[in-house]
Amino acid sequence: METGKADTSSGKSSQKIPFRAPQEPFTAKDFVYGKLLGLGSYSKVIRATKKDTGVTYALKIMDKLHIVKENKTAYVKLERVILDQLDHPGVVKLFFTFQDAHYLYMGLECCEGGELFDQIQRKKSLSLNEARFYASELVEVMEYLHGQGLIHRDLKPENLLLTKDGHLKVADFGSAKTMRSFNGLVQNVKDDKSGALVGTAEYVSPEVLDGHPVTTGADLWAFGCILYQMLVGRPPFKCATEYLTFQKVMARDFILPDFLSPEAKDLINKLLDMDPSKRPGADPNGFATLKAHPFFQGIQWSELWKLPAPPIA
Ligand code: ATP
Repeated sequence: METGKADTSSGKSSQKIPFRAPQEPFTAKDFVYGKLLGLGSYSKVIRATKKDTGVTYALKIMDKLHIVKENKTAYVKLERVILDQLDHPGVVKLFFTFQDAHYLYMGLECCEGGELFDQIQRKKSLSLNEARFYASELVEVMEYLHGQGLIHRDLKPENLLLTKDGHLKVADFGSAKTMRSFNGLVQNVKDDKSGALVGTAEYVSPEVLDGHPVTTGADLWAFGCILYQMLVGRPPFKCATEYLTFQKVMARDFILPDFLSPEAKDLINKLLDMDPSKRPGADPNGFATLKAHPFFQGIQWSELWKLPAPPIA
């Protein structure tokens, strides 16, 4: 569940951004609708096939009135600008947008394999090899995003989608933060001390809870939580209420079960360091440290998206 508001009050741009995904003169009637793929806090995502081309998309449909009422305009604008600028096999692609009087529509690449969250639920927990595969693809995406000057800020298994071949795609960039001018977009970011908390309780880092400005370390903390969840079946910090979850996070109160391999334990421990600058991937050596960790021994980083992915349950 989202716990806060975007701190991206105005995605002001000093120059016009050339959008790759055009705003098309499409209408909702141009599509044949299939199953509901998912529900967001201000959107529904439906499998939809364009009648004239036969191409299938994940159509993200957002109610304009709801967006304005819930103060989500900045989220929506930001997600469009960001998705438009990104180009990576591990990031969901945006093909087009259109709107009518009531709704905004985003034509996204359809991730037929669903959420990583559902895979963890169905399998109870993932095998070491499955977890290593998804973790490696996520490391590649984080390296790309951070290199582009972007912090995702809401990494969680619900936002990690799978293609029909089982490869990972990061979605939901509405909470992202740009660290510097991002392809011409200068994000007018209010300081995180404004009280706005962005992210999801179980994956939010202690420094963010403590009101410190967000850094790439926040994504690496979330990654530590996701890695734990893949291997154990539940996130490391989870309580009946968000308040109690936050208490656990602040106290770094989690248990590493004995069945975890020493390499997995060591990596989780290092990613869940209270000091964000010490987390592998955020330290001065950047992603070289993370990729060199023994947990990833034998991973062919440059081949990942060509290799067969774990079967989808
Ligand atoms: P949130 O409340 O988490 O911010 P949101 O309103 O931004 O959500 P998304 O997270 O983008 O919405 O989408 C909601 C759900 O729809 C996802 O968790 C996923 O299950 C499904 N979904 C989103 N995009 C796709 C896609 N490209 N392919 C398949 N399913 C998708």
